[in-house]
Amino acid sequence: LARTSDDLIKAEEPVLAHNYHPLPVVVARAEGTWVEDVEGRRYLDMLAGYSALNFGHRHPALVEAAHRQLDRLTLTSRAFHNDQLAGFAGRLAALTGLDMVLPMNTGAEAVESGIKVARKWAYDVKGVPADRATIVVAAENFHGRTTTIVSFSTDETARSGFGPFAPGFRIVPYDDLAALEEAVDETTAAVLIEPIQGEAGVIIPNDGYLTAVRELTRRKGCLFIADEIQSGLGRTGRTLAVEHEDVVPDMLLLGKALGGGIVPVSAVVARREVLGVLHPGEHGSTFGGNPLAAAVGTAVIELLETGEFQQRAAELGVVLRDGLGELVGRGVLGFRARGLWAGVDIDPAIGTGREVSERLMREGVLVKDTHGSTIRLAPPLTVTAEELRSALAALERVLGS
Ligand code: PLP
Repeated sequence: LARTSDDLIKAEEPVLAHNYHPLPVVVARAEGTWVEDVEGRRYLDMLAGYSALNFGHRHPALVEAAHRQLDRLTLTSRAFHNDQLAGFAGRLAALTGLDMVLPMNTGAEAVESGIKVARKWAYDVKGVPADRATIVVAAENFHGRTTTIVSFSTDETARSGFGPFAPGFRIVPYDDLAALEEAVDETTAAVLIEPIQGEAGVIIPNDGYLTAVRELTRRKGCLFIADEIQSGLGRTGRTLAVEHEDVVPDMLLLGKALGGGIVPVSAVVARREVLGVLHPGEHGSTFGGNPLAAAVGTAVIELLETGEFQQRAAELGVVLRDGLGELVGRGVLGFRARGLWAGVDIDPAIGTGREVSERLMREGVLVKDTHGSTIRLAPPLTVTAEELRSALAALERVLGS
């Protein structure tokens, strides 16, 4: 007998670690902007796998690239070369205006790898005394879940119980140049920030902040690392969020959408003087750069090379912004939006972000709360204006009920 959503949710409980609190929906199928649960109910996906599904579910070009590669070669390890990797790295470097690629799998791994590369650069190139390198990060950051990364988180839930913590990080308030100026010194390997803080609630810094971080890091002789794992690859209406200020960082961290929602693919992308510090044996990953990942990643880059998705995000971003604007004062306290990405602060009198997400689910729209009463909207960039308006109408109903 087919198992119901309720059965499957109950079956998870005893056997699955409780590190998530999913909405009570059990997805069985998906296509484009839509997902379908076990009972055949359809939902508009306004989360898009935390931006891993920028091109929608099962984009035909990405599925085809995966199928084609599955039939030929899936894994070699980096003990040997494979025929997919050069093309992937070359096109990713060209897309981002940088030189070299270090392929990894998950976002957290890209961040960890970026930290290692920055430290190595500090010792080998900048001349920081051994084991003294520091990395300056922003408060309210989200860069992943490893022990090193939670060491510089300011979210107690993410940290508490996981010490001892890794030293070598300095935390300054986000979007505060004076604090950054003070924190960066001769030991600083890098400044690591999200150009827009995603998990914090889509926090957009003041205009000029990224330009100033670029100028400061150049003047002080340290690297500027932009974590674009969530903000990058079309989400904000540009290929990269740093492009809104025409800034080129020394190192970019990419993930999520780079794998097309099919396979985990992440990368550190950097200038040659930076990634060139790694030599054989100093870093690696069994699955990093595998031919299936490289083939899907290349197909993702091909989609981005057309500019179509960036343009959709920019144009439909106006629909999203206008629609949210109309809800301010009617259940929405305020919102921040760029491209097809918004953090929406719900009036706590109406409910927590979780409660609003559950009510939206019953209206056939999937979103997820970030903090307290903030929900994040990040639909696939394939969403239509009509679908977007119907999601906003559902939000209006939920806020009014
Ligand atoms: N960096 C940023 C900005 C993110 O938003 C995330 C995930 O939400 C990560 C890193 C970690 O990525 P992963 O979950 O693939 O390890």
